[in-house]
Amino acid sequence: MHIETEFDVAIAGGGLTGATLALALDQAGFSVALVDANLPVAMEATAFDGRASAIAFTAMRQWRNLGLDARLQAAAQPMERIVVTDGPAPGAGAGATLPVRLSISAKDLGDSEAGEPLGWLIENTQVLSALLAALARSGVTVLRPAGVTGADIAANGGRLRLDTGQTVSAKLLVSSEGRRSVLRQTAGIRAETSGYGQTGVVATVALAKRHDGTAWQHFMPAGPLAILPLTGDRASLVWTERNDRARALQSMPEAAFTALLARRFGDDLGRPTLIGPRFAYPLSLQRVSAVTGDRLALVGDAAHGLHPISGQGLNLGLKDVAALTEVLSDARDLGEDIGGSLVLDRYARWRRLDVAGAVTAADLIARVFSNDHDSLRWIRGLALSVADRSPAIRRVLAREAGAAAGDLPRSLALG
Ligand SMILES: Cc1cc2nc3c(=O)[nH]c(=O)nc-3n(C[C@H](O)[C@H](O)[C@H](O)COP(=O)(O)OP(=O)(O)OC[C@H]3O[C@@H](n4cnc5c(N)ncnc54)[C@H](O)[C@@H]3O)c2cc1C
Repeated sequence: MHIETEFDVAIAGGGLTGATLALALDQAGFSVALVDANLPVAMEATAFDGRASAIAFTAMRQWRNLGLDARLQAAAQPMERIVVTDGPAPGAGAGATLPVRLSISAKDLGDSEAGEPLGWLIENTQVLSALLAALARSGVTVLRPAGVTGADIAANGGRLRLDTGQTVSAKLLVSSEGRRSVLRQTAGIRAETSGYGQTGVVATVALAKRHDGTAWQHFMPAGPLAILPLTGDRASLVWTERNDRARALQSMPEAAFTALLARRFGDDLGRPTLIGPRFAYPLSLQRVSAVTGDRLALVGDAAHGLHPISGQGLNLGLKDVAALTEVLSDARDLGEDIGGSLVLDRYARWRRLDVAGAVTAADLIARVFSNDHDSLRWIRGLALSVADRSPAIRRVLAREAGAAAGDLPRSLALG
């Protein structure tokens, strides 16, 4: 079969990673089609996504290079410090042993990153809205609402089939459809999913005290409570609990929820006030057997699904985007076929170690820190106190938070 290719790249899924990839490829001079099942008005609504993301400073550089700076600066809160505690809940009361603490600050970054915060906290709907505005100004052909139902692959290109009856053909197809990728399934790429029996209850609160850009991660037996600073002394919570407890947290009256939360917060942040609805995200790990297929590349959650404990899922997806854009641009400049297997292998090789490391680390942290086993608690406490006293370890952790380690694509590197 021969396919008349209309575009260089056709992307299925216009969420945070798909929309970023479309803009990056457009800026690099490729002709791009982007297909998404939702309308912009639905994606920008508060009810679409209640989460805020901790964005590594390297990932923020990519969005800056794409011209999103003005929109994102106003909405992004710099993260100056991360405080991790392990032990009794902050509000456990008198008699409880003091929790072990690890504190990492932007000052722990080396000279090469001086002046950067550890990262940025920003609400997902704000990023989506900035991406949608940039897409409207770009040369990207956007088709929505349209669901991708399958694909035809030929030696010279691929064709997306849409539920609107249309087709879109390109030299390369990309899936950024998230964890339930249709294209991944069509290509026969296996995905293994294992649940943690945990749900992240997400909510936005107004704090009674200033957060000064500090992000808190309190490890508790059922899972961590993350308090992530947002602009205007607000915070985004990710309260991880066993599924049954999480259901109760989501549905209990607001007064009971905030009273429970105030006990968990302890004295550091005072009594919080809930702003807006509570959201529930069941948590699982997803590993895929390959990130490329014939004329196909996977990016973002279509390629890897992490526990949010390390705040790296989206950051990893944004690194996929930067790496794929660089590999395709270099291939085009060398006169290579951008959908060919040699080029796609380069992308797969580049991402393999970084993705495997991040997925394994998030899984390990989730399992080791979400339990009350005495010996594990002792080892955790020791590890946190050693790290807290060692500038070298704090520097490694600060660079990990900023996703500055490893072989970075050009758009994520300084300059
Ligand atoms: C509680 C929680 C907190 C998190 N916090 C962080 C954090 O602090 N930092 C961080 O880096 N990561 C974090 N993550 C992870 C992060 O949210 C995800 O990695 C990220 O949202 C994935 O984006 P994506 O664009 O790859 O996929 P998705 O967000 O799943 O987007 C997929 C898009 O594809 C579209 N789509 C799907 N199928 C089709 C189809 N067949 N046809 C057309 N369109 C389709 C959908 O409409 C959607 O727009 C967190 C996750 C959770 C659960």
